[in-house]
Amino acid sequence: MTKKEKILTTASGRPYTEYENSMTVGPRGPILLQDYTFHEKMAHFNRERIPERVVHAKGTGAFGTFTITNNITSYTRAKVFDTIGKKTRVFLRFSRVAGERGSADTERDPRGFAIKFYTEDGNWDLAGNNTPVFFIKDPKKFDDFIHTQKRDPRTNCKSPTMVWDYWSLNPESLHQVLILMSDRGTPYSYRHMNGYGSHTFSFFNKKNERCWVKFHLKTKQGIKNFTGPEAEEMKAKDLDWAQRDLMEAIDRKDYPRWNMQIQIMTDEQAKTFRWNPFDLTKVWPHKEYPLIDVGILELNQVPENYFADVEQAAFAPANVVDGIGYSPDKMLQGRLLSYPDAHRYRLGVNYEQIPVNKCPYAVNNYQRDGFMRVDGNGGSEPNYRPNSFDNIKVDETTKEPAWQLESSVADWFDRNAEGEDDHYTQPGNLFRLMSDQEKKNTIRNIVGSMRGIESAKRDEIINRQLCHLFRADVALGTRIARGLGVNVEQFLPKK
Ligand code: NDP
Repeated sequence: MTKKEKILTTASGRPYTEYENSMTVGPRGPILLQDYTFHEKMAHFNRERIPERVVHAKGTGAFGTFTITNNITSYTRAKVFDTIGKKTRVFLRFSRVAGERGSADTERDPRGFAIKFYTEDGNWDLAGNNTPVFFIKDPKKFDDFIHTQKRDPRTNCKSPTMVWDYWSLNPESLHQVLILMSDRGTPYSYRHMNGYGSHTFSFFNKKNERCWVKFHLKTKQGIKNFTGPEAEEMKAKDLDWAQRDLMEAIDRKDYPRWNMQIQIMTDEQAKTFRWNPFDLTKVWPHKEYPLIDVGILELNQVPENYFADVEQAAFAPANVVDGIGYSPDKMLQGRLLSYPDAHRYRLGVNYEQIPVNKCPYAVNNYQRDGFMRVDGNGGSEPNYRPNSFDNIKVDETTKEPAWQLESSVADWFDRNAEGEDDHYTQPGNLFRLMSDQEKKNTIRNIVGSMRGIESAKRDEIINRQLCHLFRADVALGTRIARGLGVNVEQFLPKK
């Protein structure tokens, strides 16, 4: 089929008469300032790159469908869940956390797993990771933590010294460090990893009853990881392996799927849970809080244009819908602020109007103007409220139940005070459930990484981290100490 012929034009629609040659004084003379078409091409090109995300810069994404398979309406009134068989369009962006936009897909790093559900109640963003926990539990620590994952200020190289110095000084990171250092830190591809909402959120139902919820997305493709050496090998072969894998699978109609499951905790259970249920460095054990099926997420459409949909995609945990609420999880609270703020900086204040971010249902408010306002800006409708002219109503039926807070005193509470300082039981449980081969690989990965610590403080950093590892599991600590050539006896209980 021949494509319909089109005229080549400038951005303003003026037809080009010459595209490939600049206007010059004679065939070998200088270029004229009046060759506006040259300026426009060059000026646009110079501005093609927008600031890359500080975190999650390298990513890929696809559209798909979320289909409900189970009735969870006793927990939530969110319309996305209201009928078995209901389908909702989604966009999912996968990413690496610390690498730059051109970095390798197979580096050891957590992976982002951010889903936008275009629901009739508004867009719901579940911006999670491929791990159920995170390195820190207070958002005030986020910028320092990310600095350690990026580049050394002097050498501009990645620095195992910064990384392990920070982790060893923040024992709450141990759980995530262990997951990262296992082969799950180098997933074979985005299709072969789980996603987790990670934070604790809340659900509320038609009776206005609130419960706490965690989201899990279990890969139907099966978990598959690279070992450390395999990941290194792939890095040398194909920087964009995971991106290519996802696109090719969808193009051959081998649509990847995930089973969404939830864990539910009542308020009463939350009060007696042996860990803080809102601490992002902890999971809820499955035996006590079993996984409940919700639906199937399938990716089935590659965006036509990467920049338009993937690079301009903006997710915000603040975007919940009626029936889904926040929780006192401090990291979630911090992200409610920081994600939209990052988008305003990177994409501009009207980022919600970009097609991939735009709510496909009605949006009515009194926000006006700002850079790149492209939706008609409210036309001639009033730009203030209350007014006597329009018929925009506040929907009181979507009001959330109030939270009962235990403390009326605002203070800088120690995040690791007594009762909040068990950084060891859950990582220990994780190590003990690994197969012998998984343990072996995890230990090799940790030893290999810690060997990179260089500085006058090397021994101090190593010893501090070994103490954490020993407290999680004596066998784990012993094997890593031996791998690093450190005397094990000093860490063992005195006889
Ligand atoms: P379970 O035995 O019920 O669950 C263990 C979980 O560990 C499974 O979901 C499994 O995922 C996952 N897992 C296996 N190997 C790894 C790995 N290398 N990195 C990360 N996850 C892995 O036990 P519990 O619920 O009591 O949890 C025990 C430990 O398992 C926790 O301390 C935590 O570290 C880890 N875990 C727990 C999760 C939870 O929500 N409870 C979620 C993920 C990990 P899969 O089913 O995909 O194989």
